[in-house]
Amino acid sequence: MHAIGIDIGGTKIAGALVDESGTIVSQLRTPTPDGDSDALKSIVVDMINELADGTDAVAAGVAAPGFIDATQSIVYYTPNVPWRHEPLRTALESRVGVPVIIENDANAAGWAEFRFGAGRLSTDMVMLTIGTGVGGAVVSDATLFRGGFGAGAELGHMRIVPNGLPCGCGANGCIEQYGSGRALQRYANTLADAGGIGQRLADVRSKSGGHLHGKDISALALEDDPGALQAFRQLGDWLGQACASLDAILDPQVFVFGGGVAQVGDRLLAPIRQAFLSTLPARGYHPEPEFVIAELVNDAGVVGAADLARVHAAAI
Ligand SMILES: [Zn+2]
Repeated sequence: MHAIGIDIGGTKIAGALVDESGTIVSQLRTPTPDGDSDALKSIVVDMINELADGTDAVAAGVAAPGFIDATQSIVYYTPNVPWRHEPLRTALESRVGVPVIIENDANAAGWAEFRFGAGRLSTDMVMLTIGTGVGGAVVSDATLFRGGFGAGAELGHMRIVPNGLPCGCGANGCIEQYGSGRALQRYANTLADAGGIGQRLADVRSKSGGHLHGKDISALALEDDPGALQAFRQLGDWLGQACASLDAILDPQVFVFGGGVAQVGDRLLAPIRQAFLSTLPARGYHPEPEFVIAELVNDAGVVGAADLARVHAAAI
């Protein structure tokens, strides 16, 4: 029994036909149209119909950034696309031959890691996706946590610094401002300005026209450049403190880190673990979680959306 997963990203839309073991059977990819709601819907409809054609696909899951309602039908808000209180599920279901659910993209990715990736041996997992921002997903007692209104597990907007840096969400001091790819660039730029251990960061920055790209900071960290490692230590220090608070609330067996920034592996996990242990409440009196890197990376959104759709279809 197959299901279809669609992942609407800021730059591209990915679609896949996925089997019950989480394996992608066929896939499609297309650029995201600029802010055009109708064009976007048509692309998603065409993708679902093309992927479903001639198969036993039972449902389609559509992952999108932003807030989705508790019935997985309405997109309350999504950045980059002009969807505000958009009844997306009804709009899509009238044009495709399978039931549809809508899911937050970080939730879909987290579910994929829980079912088929780095969290598959756990019952309780927290995933933090470190990209431009910080995405979150929580699996508790083998169930994806959505909250009472469907907008739960926005872990990136947990306040970690009172009266801290302003955040795009309208609040301030969110972990997204201290533990994201943008924060990493900020730390690296400050180190580059100071010279010393930041000299290679400064050299790379001037070669890139004055801009430090995340992938360049990661490449330097993988070469054990002391400046880049220091930037990752600063990032990990904040993320580890956030994980200590999350651990006190959720008691997961595993923290999974996804997103491009996490691809440096232990160079990020080591400082996270260190900060976690130094700030963990009641350390030594309860089992400690594992810290691991996500395994599915770019496919997590489509695989998770498809699996959640399959679970939904089975319950109809
Ligand atoms: Zn925020």
